[in-house]
Amino acid sequence: MAERQFDLFIIGGGVNGCGIARDAAGRGLSVGLAEMGDLGSATSSASTKLFHGGLRYLEHFEFRLVRESLRERALLLHAMPHISWPMRFVLPYHRDMRFDSQTPTARLLARLMPWMRGRRPAWLLRLGLFLYDSLGGRHGYLPRTRMLRLRGTSEGTPLQERFEKAFEYSDCWVDDARLVVLNARDAAARGATIMVRTKVMAARRDGDAWHIETQSMPPQSMPPSMPYSPRETLRARMLVNAAGPWAGQTLTGTLGLNSPARLRLVRGAHIVTRRLYDHEKCYFLQGRDGRIIFAIPYEGDFTLIGTTDSDHDDLTTPPQCTSAERDYLLDFANGYFRRQLRAQDVVWSYAGVRPLYDDGAPNASAATRDYVLTTDTHGPLLVNVFGGKITTYRKLAESVMDKIVQAQPGLAGGWTASVPLPGGDFAPKDVPARVQALQQAYPFLSARWAWRLLRSYGSEAGAVLGDARQVEDLGQCFGATLTAREVEWLITKEWARTAEDILWRRTKLGLRLDKGQVATLESWLAQRARSGA
Ligand code: FAD
Repeated sequence: MAERQFDLFIIGGGVNGCGIARDAAGRGLSVGLAEMGDLGSATSSASTKLFHGGLRYLEHFEFRLVRESLRERALLLHAMPHISWPMRFVLPYHRDMRFDSQTPTARLLARLMPWMRGRRPAWLLRLGLFLYDSLGGRHGYLPRTRMLRLRGTSEGTPLQERFEKAFEYSDCWVDDARLVVLNARDAAARGATIMVRTKVMAARRDGDAWHIETQSMPPQSMPPSMPYSPRETLRARMLVNAAGPWAGQTLTGTLGLNSPARLRLVRGAHIVTRRLYDHEKCYFLQGRDGRIIFAIPYEGDFTLIGTTDSDHDDLTTPPQCTSAERDYLLDFANGYFRRQLRAQDVVWSYAGVRPLYDDGAPNASAATRDYVLTTDTHGPLLVNVFGGKITTYRKLAESVMDKIVQAQPGLAGGWTASVPLPGGDFAPKDVPARVQALQQAYPFLSARWAWRLLRSYGSEAGAVLGDARQVEDLGQCFGATLTAREVEWLITKEWARTAEDILWRRTKLGLRLDKGQVATLESWLAQRARSGA
């Protein structure tokens, strides 16, 4: 079989790899991408799910990163109003709150105001929030910071009595796993080849191209009799290493290059409980150790609490929320909320590994969240991606393309800033009207079901439901409004193969289905695969 050839090949189907594939395909390059697991199955589905500047990074004087992230936040919200939306964050204040003593701000304050003994003064928080509002630019699309008296308010009610005042500021939510898939879909719509469950085993330079060896798992919907070759050799003129936590070992192992890896792997865990309070705002909580965590309304009936920072050097151990991390998060939250949480209140937990650029910071929390790109031009181009945030994925992709344009002058310029992702071609303010229109078109949808579909598929929700006139037309229901028709969409349009892909990444319906329902979905998928559908 002739070798498939690409202009650009990307290792890794996380948010960065898929973002780069989309940008490059839209500029006319032929693009291939290999993801060894499911799209977004590593770090990019395990984040706190915020498009944010990162208020706490101001304490590390990371002004460039915060400004870039905040400007991106505005742009991204408009490119994907279905999967991203504004949120208000309540930051309860108490005068005993302390800094992480390692931050540059803490060290400066210790020198200038030693009598504060590491406490975070209210005026400094106010100043930080003023800066946060200003760095984001004056778009007017998000309300600015305000001071809150907590007593007698819905924001104060869930909190312990000692919290009397708070600051309230804006940031944005994003469904991280769907963000990855929507980028992959748009890349594919522009001609990119997206290969899932396909691992890059080795890549070597050979003349003016990279020779790339991949190994893939058979597609699930293939009849066992069909011939299948899991190994393939491909050629590409340029290579991007966007392997996230594996970027270091990809560089030295898979590519066999003798370059310093410079990655610091830091695990972050989250826990999910039943809904802790009644309103829709989040809490930004500051701990006695100087760290911060968030409590965020999640999937309607739940609260998401996280995160932690622990070094995680061994990638052969899949990241999981340890009992120590769970207890740390419970203790943290119990220091704020009236309702005291126990281990049995945790209904789900997850953890991911941050692939941070190693800037020599003394601890995991202090390591930079900024991204660094390195290029190797000893032959066909190689670009390595280290670090980054969900929030900066589009900008990072543009920066990678800048490197590619240097190698291939004459390529089209950046375009992704103004083009919505699939399903995102409407204004953020129109979401309620869109939900209403969906219910009018499909009167059998409950309000909750319509919201879920709109929040997942945006203007494509109607395409998912197709010509259905009654609920029975959608085929088998697996529970919690997940029907065979939606599952078909996820398999044929979004590369989903397993129940886990469907229940924990394309949707979060894993929170609602019981074991029996999951088993039913699994056997339906197996039956579909056997029939070669
Ligand atoms: P990944 O998502 O890990 O993707 C890399 C992919 O490469 C993986 O899917 C892997 O399977 C694949 N791969 C590796 N080797 C190979 C190979 N040889 N062949 C084929 N495929 C391969 N950022 C924010 O902006 N906001 C937040 O709220 C936020 N919260 C976070 C909270 C936590 C706990 C963590 C861990 C991170 C958080 N981040 C946040 C950061 C953000 O999630 C990451 O920066 C981002 O997801 C990294 O994406 P990536 O594509 O580089 O890596």
